[in-house]
Amino acid sequence: MSRAIQLHARLLPGYEQRVAQTVLRLQHAAAAHPGRIVLTTSLGAEDMVLTDLIARHRLPIALATLDTGKLHTQTLALIPAIETRYDLTVERWQPAAEQTLHFVKTHGELAMRQSVALRKACCGLRKLEPLSRLLAGRTAWVTGLRREQSGARAEVPFEDTDLTANNGRAKFNPLADWSWADVWHHIGTNDVPYNALHDAFFPSIGCEPCTRAVALGEDFRAGRWWWEEPNAKECGLHVESGFAQMQEIRA
Ligand code: SF4
Repeated sequence: MSRAIQLHARLLPGYEQRVAQTVLRLQHAAAAHPGRIVLTTSLGAEDMVLTDLIARHRLPIALATLDTGKLHTQTLALIPAIETRYDLTVERWQPAAEQTLHFVKTHGELAMRQSVALRKACCGLRKLEPLSRLLAGRTAWVTGLRREQSGARAEVPFEDTDLTANNGRAKFNPLADWSWADVWHHIGTNDVPYNALHDAFFPSIGCEPCTRAVALGEDFRAGRWWWEEPNAKECGLHVESGFAQMQEIRA
């Protein structure tokens, strides 16, 4: 058995009900947004659970990922693994080559380590701008956010009805009440493919220069942008200001 499954998977009371509720929520979301709903997958463990449920229940929800140009090879390897296992297509959305080349030329390959502003600018170019194209024409998106992931996500609702914050789209977080143990129990019992970095103590996986392994007892997201203050640690994909920033980038 893999290290991550061994370490984290546990059958907790209510797991079966959480799975059933999650499937119901996904069915409801897909029915409310026919042909215009997408799972924006980071290819992390939570999104693999959602991918598995979408495939298993043949739900009409597209899969799309942001291929930032800075992902680990282990992360990229999951794309063909998903497509083979589930016979589904994963859309890959990449940043505008000219803008990223210019950014790197001006600020260097490790600009994100120089300041929070440059890190956010990099996330803006490599994540927010492609996300805005990915979501164009779609009325709803599904994410793998869980309340347990961080203090900033402690209030994550199952359905975010704040259309202003989400640029006019519905946002569904059907795993909001899942625990890390639930996620790994589902992966282990259903033989769901997952990122090999999870076996190397990477609980939360982003771009290669901005993700490290965590030590025992460290916070779930301690390995993301570890040189920054904890309250700065969001890339803008899931915060209200992210969409405002997106408009600025597109302008
Ligand atoms: Fe850039 Fe790091 Fe953000 Fe990836 S996570 S877009 S490399 S700053």
